[in-house]
Amino acid sequence: MIIDLHCHLDLYPNPHDVVAEVQRRRVAVLSVTTTPTAFHGTRSLARDCPQVQTALGLHPELAEQREHELDLFAELLPEARFVGEVGLDGSRRFAATQSAQARVFDQVLRLCRDEGGRVMSIHSRNAVSPVLQALAAVPGAGVPVLHWFTGTPAQADAAVSAGCWFSMGSAQLSTPKGPELLNRVPRERVLTETDGPFTTSGGHPTLPWHAEETVSLLASAWSCSAADARAQVTSNFERLVDTSSRMGS
Ligand code: MN
Repeated sequence: MIIDLHCHLDLYPNPHDVVAEVQRRRVAVLSVTTTPTAFHGTRSLARDCPQVQTALGLHPELAEQREHELDLFAELLPEARFVGEVGLDGSRRFAATQSAQARVFDQVLRLCRDEGGRVMSIHSRNAVSPVLQALAAVPGAGVPVLHWFTGTPAQADAAVSAGCWFSMGSAQLSTPKGPELLNRVPRERVLTETDGPFTTSGGHPTLPWHAEETVSLLASAWSCSAADARAQVTSNFERLVDTSSRMGS
């Protein structure tokens, strides 16, 4: 099975074609959203495609502008089995929105906790420590999956101790420190992702089935066969889905 645990299906120019191909190739996709307003429309893209799960999100880059959508987030959360994309972004470009980001992420975590927990796809660019602090402040929010984690080795250790999982993409594993970080986290908590269409492959937006390329990079870092790496990721994914189905309402 090919697994893309973080993909923005609604942001491709031709989302219906992408979903049709996802279905044909039987790719399992976590279709993340950036605003609560986008949730229903994005979910309807994959209405006939059970291997696509749509996650309810409020992206940190939009937190300030869309803080008023927290009410809608709370209203939709009971119908969302997964949450994402949520988190914090510590880049200089978003420095002015840091307090809004922190309020929104804290509220998202509290809402998840109150609903019995959720599997959450989390953005942590330049903000791993604040993300871990926010998670620690709200025990019971669920299972954090750090998407495109690019922290230091010490932050990777802290994230592992905090119970985080990791979804990784080709761009990340192709950097010199990618395989080193990968080997710092338990194989049982690693998943593949594309973050399409924000990443490119051969000059075109990455598509969900390109997560297969990440499997080869995992195999090389883990010194195992691609078949073994695929089996590991598949079993991880099944465990995560099982966990999510036992959470909350
Ligand atoms: Mn993303």
